[in-house]
Amino acid sequence: MVYDKLLIDGHLVAGEGDNERIYCPADESLICEVAAASPAQLELAVEAASRAFPAWSRTPPGQRSYLLLKLADQIEMAAQELGALESRNCGKPLQMAIEDEIPAVVDVLRFFAGAARCLPGSAAGEYVPGNTSMIRRDPLGVVGLIAPWNYPLLMAAWKLAPALAAGNTVVFKPSELTPLSALYIARLCAVIFPRGVVNIISGRGITLGAQLSSHPKVRMVSVTGDITTGQAVAHAAAGNLKRTHLELGGKAPVLVFPDADIRAVVDMVRSAGFYNAGQDCTAACRIYVAESIREPFLDALVQHVSTLRSGHPEDRGIDFGPLISRRQQERVLGFVQRAAALPHSEVLTGGDVPDGPGYFFQPTVIAGVRQEDEIVQKEVFGPVVSVTSFDDEEQVLEWANASEYGLSASVWTGDVKRALRTSRQLQYGCVWVNQHMTLATEMPHGGLRQSGYGKDMSLYSLEDYTCIRHIMLNFE
Ligand code: NAD
Repeated sequence: MVYDKLLIDGHLVAGEGDNERIYCPADESLICEVAAASPAQLELAVEAASRAFPAWSRTPPGQRSYLLLKLADQIEMAAQELGALESRNCGKPLQMAIEDEIPAVVDVLRFFAGAARCLPGSAAGEYVPGNTSMIRRDPLGVVGLIAPWNYPLLMAAWKLAPALAAGNTVVFKPSELTPLSALYIARLCAVIFPRGVVNIISGRGITLGAQLSSHPKVRMVSVTGDITTGQAVAHAAAGNLKRTHLELGGKAPVLVFPDADIRAVVDMVRSAGFYNAGQDCTAACRIYVAESIREPFLDALVQHVSTLRSGHPEDRGIDFGPLISRRQQERVLGFVQRAAALPHSEVLTGGDVPDGPGYFFQPTVIAGVRQEDEIVQKEVFGPVVSVTSFDDEEQVLEWANASEYGLSASVWTGDVKRALRTSRQLQYGCVWVNQHMTLATEMPHGGLRQSGYGKDMSLYSLEDYTCIRHIMLNFE
């Protein structure tokens, strides 16, 4: 079955824009063609969301919650089919798509369904004699939601759930590379939500994403993507000063102190550095190891990483699949080749594109690289980790914080005082201690510096999709 219809104003319609060819990155086969929305169709979607807003924003939270729960149930029931679709479109291992991602999507929808009913606000009170003040937390209006290709459905849930729970109406655009799971849920949303509340279009960022970001009737735009995309969206949004919610890249430092449990660190890097082929904004990719344990650490790391298996998404027992596209494969290869050419670096394992079809890349460890090197500074977004050694705590904290990214970091130590001290000083939206990449729906996810601002998941995300208003009532 092919899912190629957009959802506009309650109707499933064919796109009237350019045809986009959707490939399976594991074998480069053509899955289908999806016609993008035309600019006129995007306009219709925004108009429909605008018309639907007054009624949806007045719909009691309990009813909004009920519809989100319905969507969660239907996604859960469709887990096999939806997981298979996501796996094929992204090249993700099938089991991981079904067993890791779909349950996470369902959990996020259920969390926000509950949160919709208990938005916190401060109590009413008299701050000026003769007047009672109260705070309202209200939805914003039409919200534009723009998602990336690394976790298409999960990112959709991170955006749709809080935006709808808060009472906004939405126009959602998945990445042009991975629209299929969003178009699948378009069919579910068409039946569950009132007309115009959820609109799902497909198409390119440079055209439709830009149109959505600059649209005068869109009150907020939320994007997960590259730093340059966040900058473009912020520029476009400036036209009507719409609110922006930016979740951009990451380059997570992993600080390994002399008293760290080396076995635990390399186990973690084996998974958190390479999960989803390293196409994860929190990937454990920038390792700083204490000079005193450098040798045993590198030995253990290389041994562990060498056991990783990539392969076709349907193969059992694989750890990760291909990169998303030829372009991404070439980009990762470029980073690795430039790093490998440095006189002080050493590629300890991997470093190349394996033979055969698909956009695969070998799991790669590059050691000896220095703080100023590109591979330490820039997000690679592939199965590549760099290792740099440090002398003392002060130096590694300075290096870890000297990054344009500020999404997440981890500290590995057996010393609780060091853990408290360093986690306080690391300027990152999330700091894990003896842990990495584990998320909790109840906790906020979001960055500092150029990793963006705005929080996903948690009650903070729900707040991001609302505005605070003051109502004052004179009683004299
Ligand atoms: P991307 O920036 O190329 O695209 C993301 C989305 O933005 C796509 O839907 C794209 O069509 C759209 N877009 C592109 N240009 C646009 C423009 N000018 N105006 C409006 N929309 C535009 O990112 P990607 O390559 O799909 O995803 C990878 C990036 O996403 C990485 O940098 C990664 O770190 C980041 N990411 C961040 C998080 C996070 O939570 N911080 C999570 C996942 C991915």
